[in-house]
Amino acid sequence: MCGVNRQTFSEKLFTQYARGAGFKKTEVIVSSFVLLALCAAFIDKKLRAGIKLAPGGVLFLLTDADKLAECARGAMRNAYAPYSGYCVGAALLGKSGRIYTGCNIENAAYSPSVCAERAAVACAVSAGEREFEALAVCGGKGGVIAGPCPPCGVCRQTLREFCSDDFKVIVVDGHDSYGVLTLGELLPHSFGRGNIEA
Ligand SMILES: [Zn+2]
Repeated sequence: MCGVNRQTFSEKLFTQYARGAGFKKTEVIVSSFVLLALCAAFIDKKLRAGIKLAPGGVLFLLTDADKLAECARGAMRNAYAPYSGYCVGAALLGKSGRIYTGCNIENAAYSPSVCAERAAVACAVSAGEREFEALAVCGGKGGVIAGPCPPCGVCRQTLREFCSDDFKVIVVDGHDSYGVLTLGELLPHSFGRGNIEA
């Protein structure tokens, strides 16, 4: 009869795998909830980041925004900012998958100073890359990230030259947190190549 050996699917799993491995039922339930919570947090972070997955798959998922933010933090350590003391790092992800970094480089005459984002763009274009997926940027006094450091107006216009309105800008605002904006949000009603070519 069907009712004699009635088990739910999860009970069958427990019987076959967990009990055989010496786990108690409560241990399996608790660890399952922990695993689900970790997965939910991970997916939430990825959704918040808004980064689309590359056709390549999982490896890109595990590296995208977090990797880019980490590269930006690394680049920030090379910042040359003897006058303002405000160190900035940027990491630009090219369509090829390569990451180009830049830091701010100040100058005693001030005007020749270059922002981290533009340094990264110069690095990428000089290497032959002109199409980009996303950029991460971080900064702070003395290299300590105490809040968001969004691109300045000049850098937004520089990005506009090579990037579309849906280009992702990852603004790092803490050791392990960041927000994501599109270039269209950062630079609405912008002027670009299309205006000249029209
Ligand atoms: Zn700038």
